[in-house]
Amino acid sequence: MSEPVREPARIPGRRLLHSPGPSPVPDEVLHAMMRQPMDLADPRVDATIAACERGLRRLLQTDTAELFFYACNGHGAWEAVVENLLPPGGMALVPGTGHFSGSWALQTEALGRRVVRTPWQEGHPIDVHAVTQALAADRAREIVAVFAVHTDTASGVTSDLAALRAAIDAADHPALLVVDAVASLGVEPLAMDALRADVALGASQKGLMCPPGVAFMAVGEAALAAAARNPAPRFYWDWQRRRGAMSYQKFCGTPPLALMAGLEAALGLIFAEGLPQVLARHRLLASAVHAAVEGWREGGTLDFFCREPACRAAAVTSIAVAPGALDVDALRTLARERFQVAIAGGLGPLHGRAFRIGHLGDQNAANVLGALAGVQAALQALGVPIGEGVARAAALLARSPQP
Ligand SMILES: *Cc1c(COP(=O)(O)O)cnc(C)c1O
Repeated sequence: MSEPVREPARIPGRRLLHSPGPSPVPDEVLHAMMRQPMDLADPRVDATIAACERGLRRLLQTDTAELFFYACNGHGAWEAVVENLLPPGGMALVPGTGHFSGSWALQTEALGRRVVRTPWQEGHPIDVHAVTQALAADRAREIVAVFAVHTDTASGVTSDLAALRAAIDAADHPALLVVDAVASLGVEPLAMDALRADVALGASQKGLMCPPGVAFMAVGEAALAAAARNPAPRFYWDWQRRRGAMSYQKFCGTPPLALMAGLEAALGLIFAEGLPQVLARHRLLASAVHAAVEGWREGGTLDFFCREPACRAAAVTSIAVAPGALDVDALRTLARERFQVAIAGGLGPLHGRAFRIGHLGDQNAANVLGALAGVQAALQALGVPIGEGVARAAALLARSPQP
């Protein structure tokens, strides 16, 4: 018989959540979600969905794309894109960005489609020359779409989507451009129409400051036409079936009302602060984390996982650990249980080789300084050699104007 699990004592103060999703939920969003469900004919249901559609169009800077919502996570959004765009045995090009491009490619193959991958060099963004080459080599024009991860949350690398667009144009290939913006939406600039992206997909629990449970995608005309031509059998994920005025139809069943109310509130917070300010705040807080890592790496054990400073994500910083120098799981446990800072580990092949500090969504200077201080204390408690990082982060914030 195992011991019954004891309820933990109440934690004084707040535990700082710095995983790169789920991210902290603002009180305004929590309050918006605390309401009774409504009958689906209640006009407030349609008003909430319409507000989310408008808000996401504005966030994605698209006038024309149609919005589709699903009661699911980001992996569900990947599946929706595959099932709608790729015919059975159809082909996608997945440029390498790290763990998330790898997972999307595997999921696509598991659904009976074929994938062309471009190689990923650890710590680097999408190799756009390899994308042009792979498209040019596809003389039969079999590749239907390029599935591009904007910010790979595992590697902490953000790829330049304008350069990717140019690479697709350079190959003169008709492939659709599908952008995974799960970790970058509301964090990095992303203008769907200007980029000529055909689909952009996201989820509620990262930069959008909501609990997990809703995913969505904005779909342009060419992608809708490709879906209409696609004979692959599908039902729940089907865009065509979801194009209708009724909320029940839009969600292929009951909408997740509380989460949609939360999303409406979160979008309201983003536009009240101002999108340019939100993006500038993320860039500044990321710079503070980078300043701390610059200090820590002087100890010779830790370093940036991202090898190109211009590609360091505004959402999350991935910190590489010298082989055998640190038990990352022990660091995470100590940081969480003793210093009340929740951080993330390395994913897939990076397990044990990296840890990650999220700085996306509802974050401010004090949260980020607190998280850095907690992580630094945990590193010190474990005897990891590091230079002073927190003071550098504070100094950077002190000399930077408030966005
Ligand atoms: C988190 C994430 C996903 C997966 O989202 P889930 O909600 O965990 O399924 C996909 N892509 C990126 C870039 C992510 O950061």
